[in-house]
This record gives sequence, C-alpha cells and structure tokens, in this order.
Amino acid sequence: MFFALIADFDHCPLLQQRVLAVLHRIPELVQRDFLDDPRFRITLENYHPETGWTLWMATPGPPGNGSRCVVLRRRLSDCAEGFAHYVIAHEFAHAFLRNGPWGEIRDREEAADALAASWGFRRPDPDQGLASRGDFQGNPGMVSR
Ligand SMILES: [Zn+2]
Repeated sequence: MFFALIADFDHCPLLQQRVLAVLHRIPELVQRDFLDDPRFRITLENYHPETGWTLWMATPGPPGNGSRCVVLRRRLSDCAEGFAHYVIAHEFAHAFLRNGPWGEIRDREEAADALAASWGFRRPDPDQGLASRGDFQGNPGMVSR
C-alpha cells in the first residue's frame, strides 16, 4: 500500500527497501496520516553539478499547513542500515509533527528524535559501529517547509 509513496525513486531499490522497512514499523495512525494526505511526498534530492541542489516543493497549502515533502539524500542507500532507518524515521517524525514541537519538547530536532525513538528508531551511537561519524555530517534528509 506504500508503493505510491516510493515511486519517485524506483531507480534506487535499496533506498526504497529502507523507506518501506520504516513505513511498515511506524504506528498505523502515522501511516494513515501520510497516506491520507495528498500533499505528503517522499522524494530524492537531485544534485546537478551545474545548478546545485534542486528540491521539489509543494505548493504552499492553507496557513498552518506547510508542505509535507520528505526529501532524502541518495547516500541513505549506502550508509549503515540502522543509520538510514533512523534518518528516515526522524524525517517522518518531522513530517508527522508538521515540523513542529512534540508535546513538551519544543525543540523541533529533539522532538523528531524523541518521536522517532518512540517508534523504535533511536539515534545510532557511532561508537557501536551502527553509523560512521561521517554519516552525521551534513543533513542526510530534510522536510521542506
Ligand atoms: Zn531533523
């Protein structure tokens, strides 16, 4: 049922698998929220050497209803699986929270980390070999606003 969501990157089957693995593990409430919102998209960031990064952006919706496009970087298909799952879940958490806070957690990044952890996707500890330090450099995913 999630295939429409990952159709944008069928040239990246490993990343599709990783995204699907996360989609299947998040709560049904969150799955429904994504599936029922036609503005929710998952896409890959395109890099063109001449023009730099281009991002697909949703047309702004009604006030308070920002775009819900999760943009993932291609290298999420090369890095350690646990790290990729964590990044994808973290971005889904931002999308679910509409880039906002979660309950008492006002910091958007902490809120997304905490929500992703509640789904079973904790930030991997590089010391345990689950991710390399380089994986944390730059921002491997983002939710456009
Ligand atoms: Zn974030």
